[in-house]
Amino acid sequence: HRRNPGEAEFHQAVDEVLLSLTPMIERHPDYVEDSLIERFCEPERQIIFRVPWVDDNGCVQVNRGFRVEFNSALGPYKGGLRFHPSVYLGIVKFLGFEQILKNSLSGMPIGAGKGGSDFDPKGRSEGEIMRFCQSFMTELYRHLGEYTDVPAGDIGVGGREVGFLFGQYKRITNRYEAGVLTGKGLAWGGARARTEATGYGTVYFVEHMLAEQGRNLEGLDVVVSGAGNVALYAAQKVTQLGGRVVAMSDSGGYLVDTDGIDVAAMIGLKEKRRGRISEYADTHGGRHVSGGSIWEVPCTVALPCATQNELDAEGAHHLARNGCQVVAEGANMPATPEAVEVLREAGVAFAPGKAANAGGVAVSALEMQQNATRDSWSFDHTDARLREIMAGIHRTCVDTAEAYDVPGDLVTGANIGGFLRVADAMNAQGVI
Ligand code: NDP
Repeated sequence: HRRNPGEAEFHQAVDEVLLSLTPMIERHPDYVEDSLIERFCEPERQIIFRVPWVDDNGCVQVNRGFRVEFNSALGPYKGGLRFHPSVYLGIVKFLGFEQILKNSLSGMPIGAGKGGSDFDPKGRSEGEIMRFCQSFMTELYRHLGEYTDVPAGDIGVGGREVGFLFGQYKRITNRYEAGVLTGKGLAWGGARARTEATGYGTVYFVEHMLAEQGRNLEGLDVVVSGAGNVALYAAQKVTQLGGRVVAMSDSGGYLVDTDGIDVAAMIGLKEKRRGRISEYADTHGGRHVSGGSIWEVPCTVALPCATQNELDAEGAHHLARNGCQVVAEGANMPATPEAVEVLREAGVAFAPGKAANAGGVAVSALEMQQNATRDSWSFDHTDARLREIMAGIHRTCVDTAEAYDVPGDLVTGANIGGFLRVADAMNAQGVI
């Protein structure tokens, strides 16, 4: 805390992980010799830079850019870029730290990094977003490369922004280096199923959690917070598997429809028209609630897919009281530690984001594989790989929890399971 003042989200993520590593450290003190834990918590490199750009009125705007290259024990740094006004070093470091364990759990050869900017894309024209992306990449490009650091999207960075970033990287370097960014368009090196991967993967993980309880999604009511990339495709997969999405949200409030939200219409509204969730009720029914808590909507499964700390203790109490039985994090750290405790005490099965939402980065690694071999796989092939990967992550979490005498505790299972692979690699590579 003294070394990283004011980085609340980073402290929260590190505290949670270190606490759950305790049984492993007691059993294998040799693993953490040579200050391994201290090195694990200290990023290998942190880059902070100025991003100047000209808005549509001809005024110069200045934002701050970040890239935290956290750990390269398992492969090149890999993790998304977030454009949101709340971004500062503490958020980027928490995301980069979680990414180490997530990427390890995915079983793919990828290290961990994260980046972004406090740029707010809301209300900006396409031209402004392009100029911002070009300025951002004009500084960042020197730190990237398919063997060095491979960013992707996150909040506020989707296919359009990855396109502008890739175009500028290519222009500066004069290299068509497809493997330098993931989340690309299908016409220029992108992987089929990458857009869907995080949301689909979260729901595949939930299927395994439900199977442990001897059932499936058929006929269950599901609440999905957010209405961005992760939320929309989680909702789509829930519907495909026979569940009913009864509520979704954005930062303006939530929409509830107990008959089930028309997910295709919602995808059209959010992705194609970049509209607000409040507009859905005008044309497709349901009820829009400005502000308020989406967790008050009764459901059996809840998937927080918007942002960090969006599900607090009060929200968790609502979920438990209304009979919710499974919570899986589609977003990164959406549940506060207090919320996780409430769910644990109420006996609600809980999956942390580093396990449940790892499908996105896993398919990004598959995109890198396709770029390296100049190949392009079918949707079904990639989706089948995603299913296998999610099954593997679930197995690792369950088996590790059992091995450390906390059966069913997927938080401990994910943290220890993810940590062991990175620790093995770091120990093998000397004091790095
Ligand atoms: P998007 O930008 O596509 O969507 C984010 C959604 O969350 C929007 O509906 C947005 O509403 C809402 N939201 C964002 N910030 C806030 C906030 N502070 N308060 C309330 N609502 C908010 O992002 P993604 O779907 O890509 O990412 C969502 C989460 O999933 C993040 O935690 C991200 O780190 C995580 N994640 C994403 C992966 C990916 O592949 N994209 C992979 C793994 C994890 P509004 O539009 O009103 O701001």
